[in-house]
Amino acid sequence: MRLENESFVGSTVMPWKLLQRHGELVSKDEIVPYCVQIFPTFKCNGKCRWCDYRGLDRSVELTAGELRGIADHFRKLGTRAFVLSGGGEPTMHEGLDEFIAYAHGAGFHLGVVTNGLKWGARGEVLPANGKVVWVRMSIIDTETGKYDVKRLARLAAGLPDAEIGVSFTVTNAVDVGTALGLMDIVESTGNITHIKFVEDIINFAPEGMARIRETCGPISEKCIFQDRLSREQGAERCLVSLLKPTIGADGYVYPCGCVQFVRGGDDYDFTMPKEFRMARWNEFSRSTPPFNGAICRRCPFDRHNRILAGLRTEFKHERFI
Ligand code: SF4
Ligand code: SF4
Repeated sequence: MRLENESFVGSTVMPWKLLQRHGELVSKDEIVPYCVQIFPTFKCNGKCRWCDYRGLDRSVELTAGELRGIADHFRKLGTRAFVLSGGGEPTMHEGLDEFIAYAHGAGFHLGVVTNGLKWGARGEVLPANGKVVWVRMSIIDTETGKYDVKRLARLAAGLPDAEIGVSFTVTNAVDVGTALGLMDIVESTGNITHIKFVEDIINFAPEGMARIRETCGPISEKCIFQDRLSREQGAERCLVSLLKPTIGADGYVYPCGCVQFVRGGDDYDFTMPKEFRMARWNEFSRSTPPFNGAICRRCPFDRHNRILAGLRTEFKHERFI
């Protein structure tokens, strides 16, 4: 992978941005909740076969007032960016455009992860254009060959001032034709920065990944391949939970955006499990203790945690690098 492409990957790779900006984020006593993920709603209009959130109560969502309250509360804590994601599908929240305008006006940098069913429907310029830095569109059907790849072109046309990425889930039944159809659009569209082929998180798919790597890899430098072989034990002091927590549509703060699968084993209930709750959003503060990640057997942020711990450690012989 081109090193620049690691700009678009939040987990599993070396956290370069953390290393570059650590002076703003980490001190001996505190970690700033710098980038917060919000799931505005658990509602979803997709039916992805591999959905790892399929056990959520789809009627739950944050109110417009709570969303504004989250922006106000976290601005005081030093948060600089929000990722609006799910959980559910963020564009299913009626107040999303209003919240984007509010948070943008308050100075936050915004990213949105969407399945594109709404934002990729028409190709008209969307209200979020000029307010969101990036949008990542997840492909909801990568297996049947029936996916309308032009949805990606319409979404990119609707957000001409944003950088668009694509997330393509790879299973062992992956349809290579769908991937190639998308690749044509990725290659020919200026504001599409990358297509990330992500291995199914629950049922690993090494054969599917190998097929996709072989066919798509040589075509474009915009390809990113993300395997899911992480078996790293979570940290007992999970400092990631203070740096980039996730707020569920149920109003609770969770330590990371991967709580639905990190326990490993076969006991998935495809929800955000209660034992991961850290606080209600309005009770979260810079003195909230870090989450105990001893229950996590598949931590994708192991490197982040080691580096955060290292940045707060006084090492001896500091000039002997
Ligand atoms: S779009 Fe996301 S939340 Fe909705 S069904 Fe697909 S994977 Fe699940
Ligand atoms: S998987 Fe566990 S230890 Fe790792 S970042 Fe998430 S909550 Fe923390």
